This record gives sequence, C-alpha cells and structure tokens, in this order.
Amino acid sequence: VISLGIGDVTQPLAPAVIEAMHQAVDELASAETFRGYGPEHGHDFLRRAIVEHDYRDRGIEIDEEEVFVSDGAKSDTANFQELFAKECRVAVCDPVYPVYVDSNVIAGRTGTLNEDGRWSHVTYLPCTAENNFTPELPKESVDLIYLCYPNNPTGTVLPKEELKKWVDFAISTGAILLYDSAYEAYIRDESIPHSIYEIPNARRCAIEFRSYSKTAGFTGVRCGYTIVPKELSQLNHLWERRQSTKFNGASYISQRAASAIYTEAGRKQVKETIDRYMENALLLRTELSNLGIRVYGGEHAPYLWVQCPTGQSSWECFEQLLHRCALVSTPGSGFGPSGEGFIRLTAFGRLDDTKEAIERIKKNF
Ligand code: PLP
Repeated sequence: VISLGIGDVTQPLAPAVIEAMHQAVDELASAETFRGYGPEHGHDFLRRAIVEHDYRDRGIEIDEEEVFVSDGAKSDTANFQELFAKECRVAVCDPVYPVYVDSNVIAGRTGTLNEDGRWSHVTYLPCTAENNFTPELPKESVDLIYLCYPNNPTGTVLPKEELKKWVDFAISTGAILLYDSAYEAYIRDESIPHSIYEIPNARRCAIEFRSYSKTAGFTGVRCGYTIVPKELSQLNHLWERRQSTKFNGASYISQRAASAIYTEAGRKQVKETIDRYMENALLLRTELSNLGIRVYGGEHAPYLWVQCPTGQSSWECFEQLLHRCALVSTPGSGFGPSGEGFIRLTAFGRLDDTKEAIERIKKNF
C-alpha cells in the first residue's frame, strides 16, 4: 500500500541541520557548555535569524520580541484561541485544517453540532471550485478568522489583493486574523505573499504562524514560531504570559537545527528538498489532468485537491483508490462539508512511490 494521505514528509533532514544538531548534542555533553531551560519564547540566535531572513530579507520589519518560538504550528494554532473570550465567534474556511475548529470545540466556543456536520456557533466560509477556492468575507460579525495560505487541504493560494480584503475587513470590524503560513516555502511565484505582513496594516490585526515541519522536514524534530505584533500589545503580552505559564520552550537541539536552515548551505539544501516534492506535485497534477481528472492546487503547495472523477463521495473514492490501486488518500469530507466530493493527495511521498501510484491509477482506477 502506498500512502499519499497524511501530510508527512519522507526526505531526510538537510546535512546542515544534522550537523547543527550533532554540535548541539555535543554542547549538552559537557559541563562547560551544557544548557538547561531556555527562554520560553525561544533562544535569541533563532529569533534573530527569523527576523533577519524570514522577514527583513522580504522587506518586513519584525521585532525579536514579537517572535515566539515553539514546538510547532499545531500547538500554536490550537492554543492561541485560549487568549479570547468563550463568546467570541470564529470563522473558518470550509474545507479547513481541522485543528482550528477542534481546538475551539474543546474550548466550548462552537455551540452544537448540526446534522450537516457544521457547528452552530462557527461561521463557515465555503471554498469551492465554483468560487475558485477564494472565501468570501463573512456576512455576520466574527471575532477570530483563521486563514491558511498556501492552503491545506486545497493547495490553493490567495493573491495580495484578496488578502488585502481580509486585512481591511479585520481592521474595520475589529476582528483578529489568525494567519497560518506553514506552507509558505512552497510558493513559486514571487507575487504571491509569503507573509500576511506583506499587506499594509496587517500588524494591526494579524497573528502569523510558521512551522519548520514542511519547510525543512521537522515533522519529527518539532519547531515553529508565532509572530504577535506589538501593535496588538495586549495579545503580545498575553501570549508571552500564556507560553511562559504553560510551555517551557522548544528543545535547544531543535532550535539549533532550525537556525541551521538560515545558513547558506542550509538554505540551498532545504530548497532542493522542496523542489523534489514540487516535482511530485507537478507529476501528479499533469498525469491526473491528462486522465481528465480535475485537479486543483499543487502549484504553490504540496497538496493536490482532486475532484472525485465520477461524482463519488470522498469516502467512496477513497475506498476505490484503496481497493483497486492499494493507494491511501485523504477523504476531502474530513476537512469540512465543502470538502465532500474531493480527495487530497500529498506530494510529500517518495518519487518512486508517486510514480507507482500514478501508474496504478492509470491502470486500475
Ligand atoms: N498548519 C497547517 C495548515 C498544517 O497543515 C500543519 C501540519 O500538517 C500544521 C499547521 C502543523 O505543523 P507542525 O508540524 O509545525 O505542528
């Protein structure tokens, strides 16, 4: 069985990262260089590298005190809602990365579950082929808006003009944008924003989540970070308090590993791996499209959002792929009601597996 289901990476860590980790381990092995607890918000060497390379190199000014290093974007995107009142109304794209909804469910903010699979106190923003996977601004009043671009699961992106609408909306209504850019490293077209802070005034309304998981294969190493601008001073202060109360920092070894991807060698090596995954994405896109299957995404993201070709449900399509092709996909309906009729394939597989999966689809699907 080949899995192009769960979005986990398959390529090893970059040599520069491995070297940095070995060095960090050696430091911990000697009394002179040993380190115990680090700062809860992350080591200065990593915060500095983030500010310089992820932001200043792109013309964005972020202060080191606005950077909160963590063990990954899942925890941060799940935990950030803790800073807000239970009555706050949440808006999410549909389909969506399930963590945004489920963390609010656990917090007791989402009301009751309707028969159609939607929560009564959540605002869903459908992203469908009909609207080109571009969510419309909410018609009702909302407090927290989760956006994720490049998108998981649809693999689609939003251009600057579209993101600007969201920033303007948030500022005019007082809503907060929770912007997850875990897949920014996969953007191929430089006109597409990597960061919400490329949009004017975003510092007044947006939090940004980043992850090294997909950028550098850290799904098992664990490291990411969140930007909380000082314009949102209460949130910056509260997140500092929340993290220092409930979190004791990402491991020193992970943070040294993360900082190695900003070196010249690290950057080159990480880019090579991303390019390999994007070759898989291109292959899947091209070959499935040639079979007459509608495929979205996969141009600036490692995910392909595939329309079930004969109008099957997501689960029917999943089962056919499993039984006829021994191929695991992810049923789109698992990401929300508007995901029905789609499956998600990942480009994170190995090249030979991806090629074999395509052959099996051609022969048996
Ligand atoms: N955000 C999105 C949109 C994701 O798809 C994922 C992982 O699949 C994460 C966050 C989690 O990232 P991390 O491994 O840093 O926790």
